[in-house]
Amino acid sequence: AKESGRNAFNFFTSQMNADATQTLMLRSGLARALERQEFVLHYQPQVDLETGRIMGTEALLRWKHPDLGLVPPNRFIGIAENSGLIVPIGEWVIQEACRQAAAWYEAGLPQLTMAVNLSAIQFKRGNLVETVENALFAHRIPAPLLELELTESILIQDTDNVLATVDRLKSIGVKLSIDDFGTGYSSLMYLHRLNVDKLKIDQSFVRDLNDDPDDAAIVQAVIQMAKSLKLRTIAEGVENSQQLDALRRQSCDEVQGYFLGHPMLADDFARHLADWKPLT
Ligand code: C2E
Ligand code: CA
Ligand code: CA
Ligand code: CA
Repeated sequence: AKESGRNAFNFFTSQMNADATQTLMLRSGLARALERQEFVLHYQPQVDLETGRIMGTEALLRWKHPDLGLVPPNRFIGIAENSGLIVPIGEWVIQEACRQAAAWYEAGLPQLTMAVNLSAIQFKRGNLVETVENALFAHRIPAPLLELELTESILIQDTDNVLATVDRLKSIGVKLSIDDFGTGYSSLMYLHRLNVDKLKIDQSFVRDLNDDPDDAAIVQAVIQMAKSLKLRTIAEGVENSQQLDALRRQSCDEVQGYFLGHPMLADDFARHLADWKPLT
């Protein structure tokens, strides 16, 4: 038992070293990743349950690291936020998502809504409103087709600055949604303070929708409340037809998740869209 305990300890420490080494590699590489064009956006479909069609997409950032391969955002967004690099990276994401939306439109694809994730730091530093305006103008994207996903970490910065920025974004005409809705302890507060358009029901409530009556009740309550407030709802993390059916019965407006399509490269997304048979 002692021996295996020691092996477990050795394994544990070497794993920790590997993680720490990776974090160092990420931290040192991040500063030059933009100029080296190592970022890429993947696109995941968002399906409207009324029409059964793909009406939108969420842009999800990945880093093509020269040594580590494709690095998911949870590994480097925090590092980017701590170093401030999230500001130029976030600007790139907005520009690139708008560029791609315009390229798809030029190629004859139907116009879709484009959802982009924002970090709290982009509200504190950088010129978010100007960045958004410039991207829309440069790529001739109608403002209502751009949807900005806000999380609680943005909204709890209870400064007038955040509220003013949100108001300015709304007045440009872009859509706003609250990401991971239900996971923040005071999510409800934002609803009466902010003029948002959509709630994204967090995937943790969708996961056990069919097995856990509490989760089903929460999802139902969120959808009912959203309807009363005239907000749209989208459920994320939909992985099977049972979850889809339950969400349809509960009159959720939109769904997103592996069952409808994984996040994918732009060309794959265009093919996915072309091959898509409306849900019935
Ligand atoms: P999020 O905004 O909540 O995005 C949803 C995450 O769930 C994505 O992970 C997506 O790939 C994953 N997902 C989608 N469908 C399913 C499903 O059916 N089942 C399960 N289990 N997962 C699913 P991803 O791409 O690794 O992104 C993780 C987080 O990183 C995002 O969570 C978002 O908070 C952040 N992020 C991604 N792109 C950006 C960005 O451009 N800027 C900022 N600031 N954050 C970003
Ligand atoms: Ca999101
Ligand atoms: Ca989410
Ligand atoms: Ca999340």
